[in-house]
Amino acid sequence: MAGREPPARQSAADLPLEDDAQPGEAGARAVSAGTSVTAGHSEAALVRRQYRASEQRFRALLESLPKVAVQGYDSERRVIYWNEASTRLYGYSAEEAEGQLLEDLIIPDAMHQEVIKAHRAWVRHGIGIPPEELELRHKSGDLVPVFSHHVMLGEHTESPLMFCVDVDLTDQKQAHRELDFATRFDSLTRLPNRQTFESELDALLATCARHNTLLALVYLDIDHFVEINDAIGYEQGDRLLVELAQRLRNRQRVTDLLARVSSDEFVLAFPDLHRQEDLWRLVGNVQKALRDPFVLAGRSRQVTASLGVALYPDNGLNARQLIRNADVAKNRAKLDGRGALRFFEQHLHDELVYQHQLIALLEQALDNGELCLHYQPQVSAVSGRIENLEALLRWEPAEGPPVSPAEFIPLAERSGLIHRLGDWVMEEACRQQRAWRARGFTEQRIDINVSGHQLLCPGMLGRFEACLDDHDLAPQDIGIELTENVLIEADTSVLEGLRQLYHRGVRIAIDDFGTGYSSLSYLKHFPVTALKIDRSFVRDAPSQPEDRAIMEAAIFIGHRLGLEVVAEGVETAEQHTLLREMHCDLIQGYYFYRPMPGEAIERLLSGRVAGPGRQPG
Ligand code: C2E
Ligand code: MG
Ligand code: MG
Repeated sequence: MAGREPPARQSAADLPLEDDAQPGEAGARAVSAGTSVTAGHSEAALVRRQYRASEQRFRALLESLPKVAVQGYDSERRVIYWNEASTRLYGYSAEEAEGQLLEDLIIPDAMHQEVIKAHRAWVRHGIGIPPEELELRHKSGDLVPVFSHHVMLGEHTESPLMFCVDVDLTDQKQAHRELDFATRFDSLTRLPNRQTFESELDALLATCARHNTLLALVYLDIDHFVEINDAIGYEQGDRLLVELAQRLRNRQRVTDLLARVSSDEFVLAFPDLHRQEDLWRLVGNVQKALRDPFVLAGRSRQVTASLGVALYPDNGLNARQLIRNADVAKNRAKLDGRGALRFFEQHLHDELVYQHQLIALLEQALDNGELCLHYQPQVSAVSGRIENLEALLRWEPAEGPPVSPAEFIPLAERSGLIHRLGDWVMEEACRQQRAWRARGFTEQRIDINVSGHQLLCPGMLGRFEACLDDHDLAPQDIGIELTENVLIEADTSVLEGLRQLYHRGVRIAIDDFGTGYSSLSYLKHFPVTALKIDRSFVRDAPSQPEDRAIMEAAIFIGHRLGLEVVAEGVETAEQHTLLREMHCDLIQGYYFYRPMPGEAIERLLSGRVAGPGRQPG
């Protein structure tokens, strides 16, 4: 090791170790022994030489210890000694370090006061600083883990010196981290292993219990993984696992957990679910991770996995139980063949299967013309005259009973089919309106329901305008209905699009008003023209003073903001009377008309059937 000459300032004479400081003592000892002065002198010189030699050896030793960093500080904590190992450990050369304050050099800011206090307590009151593990600051700003011993020399003199002997712990820490990683994580995918997952899941379950929310645990097992390994080799099998882990991780929210629990098995936890609907979406998301083929050994391969799902709290209260039950569900899925999914509970499983079938059938229905629009009139509360028509989607499968939009619209939203469905509705409503206009029915507007998912699709509002143009319709001919949550969640580009429609004269109504968002202040920001008070308030208004109050308030606010107010679901004369007295503008409900096919509306508009009046239930 390149031994450095100690700095000049810090000569041997300055150090309290040396007996140069007490030359008289050696001399006194010599005199008292009765030897001659000359002999005494030469003896003292010998002692000094021996001392110097020993001090040099000591110094050489300090310099040559590659891993032991030694620093000396004076009573004000200024560096007086700094060996080569200190330079390696902290990055400062001896020249840079000397004269600097300990705390300015290697002490992290947060420890400054503590170090100064401890040093003072030692110098003034003799309270030593025990050896300790610390993280000190390298010249680069990085922290260096060290084990630090402290020694005070000349403690009771005018100039006590503190020496710090620091051993670099970087390698040990790194080894410790690696060991820790190896015991907690899977080295191939770098995902947590089963033990880590279990303890993290238990912590997550405690949060779900506090928030009173659901958690879904998904057990994923790659189908025929052994065959993949056999066919293309372990290396490619490993690549598949790494890529799948990556795909699953990319689809996670920060709060979700993911782990590899055995060779081809992964588990995922999705906390804080509020409704079962969230569950379908999340499970669909896991399935999507396998949708694209994997390129392995230069060939594209479709890989499938069996999935088992267990739910907290219904199927287990702790990590162990949930993992076991999701595993049981997964084993049942295996029996169903490749790519199957099973819930621990049968009824959830049946429901999922049914929903999958329904979506496939709905897609066919779009192609086979099984869909149509029915129209429900909205009448003036005062005159009973038909003012507008709400278009409501109807699906009558070739086989089986009609399916309600309340059932299939949410499914279409989840599967993405809503975009095609929405475009179809838009097109069909425009076609019908143009046909009616051509036959001289020029008064009524048609309102279509637009889902939030549709608005998220870029260009949807542009297509709406193009559709109006294509059918030679004016913006006033077709209106749209949106729920309040859709408005709240809309981003600025969607709002801008809606604003444009609004300024062009398209009527925009807030559907199911009062059931979604709880604050009314949003009303002043959004481009809307009407409120549709939800059926639930109308239904109970005659008997429930609270519902009546809410209804009255909604009508009042709507009018003050210059909006038209429509009441939905009016079924009785009593409700109608109440709404008329409250000055509600329009009434929609079975009391006047049920939704009906276009031809029935045409007969109604042409006066070939009596109306307005009570329709038979
Ligand atoms: P909505 O937009 O609030 O439509 C009103 C619903 O109330 C309709 O149900 C209508 O048939 C029903 N209704 C009308 N008057 C009465 C009444 O007096 N009593 C009772 N009990 N019900 C009445 P429908 O047709 O089953 O539609 C349900 C929901 O499905 C709609 O609620 C709407 O959110 C959605 N929907 C329907 N068609 C479409 C569509 O083309 N696109 C989209 N995105 N959603 C649609
Ligand atoms: Mg509606
Ligand atoms: Mg509604």
